[in-house]
Amino acid sequence: TKFQDAGLHPVMMTNIELCGYQLPTPIQAYCLPSILTGHDIIAVAQTGSGKTAAFFIPILSQLMGKAKKLAAPRPFFIGNADFDPIRDGVRAEPLVLVIAPTRELAIQIFDEARRLCYRTMLRPCVVYGGAPTREQLDDLRKGCDILIGTPGRLIDFIDRGHILSLGRVKFTIIDEADEMVSADWVEDMRKILTGGDNNEDSDHIFMMFSATFPKDARTLAKEYMATDHIRIR
Ligand code: AMP
Repeated sequence: TKFQDAGLHPVMMTNIELCGYQLPTPIQAYCLPSILTGHDIIAVAQTGSGKTAAFFIPILSQLMGKAKKLAAPRPFFIGNADFDPIRDGVRAEPLVLVIAPTRELAIQIFDEARRLCYRTMLRPCVVYGGAPTREQLDDLRKGCDILIGTPGRLIDFIDRGHILSLGRVKFTIIDEADEMVSADWVEDMRKILTGGDNNEDSDHIFMMFSATFPKDARTLAKEYMATDHIRIR
């Protein structure tokens, strides 16, 4: 399999080239067609396998076709200095939500998202705990199409109501599910996944990538994966 044969958007082909990726890794070769045909995915994947690009490349390529229509408003770029997104009711409404167990992984995923989002009109943001919220909030308010975050901070922002809405999420990805540390992480995931499943056109796609699948992860998959999901290992 080659990237050239996958039917990807031209901008995505350019970004793959800029990243220096010549051939898809095995996980990418499996994920590209499965994700491009709209399937939920459960994939056994190790760190270093290229799993991040395996979901971003096909997802961003699909969104690219509709980026002009879908991209979040960029309130600060309109040049209206008096505009206050909270007062004026602007919430971040990402199209893609990636949940990562640690801040380090979240940042790593964000870096890959940034490279692959180049010239796509889609704007990635990252949020995580153990850091002040101020900068993260300011960043979200500049427009957020692709949100990467750790569970605690995501739930915090969702609970505050006026910051983040999951009503437009089309793709939810749980990465390294087996590294989730909190004992009640499944409860957090349910909250997040229900937000995506409730979105307007209910074509929500759910993906899970993990090295192993402990009981909690299997339970979650059983609850939220479509019956025609694809297993990759
Ligand atoms: P990941 O498994 O997502 O943590 O990716 C591991 C590393 O592989 C990252 O530094 C990527 O930039 C790199 N990578 C991803 N896909 C490819 C590819 N097709 N060819 C070469 N390197 C890649």
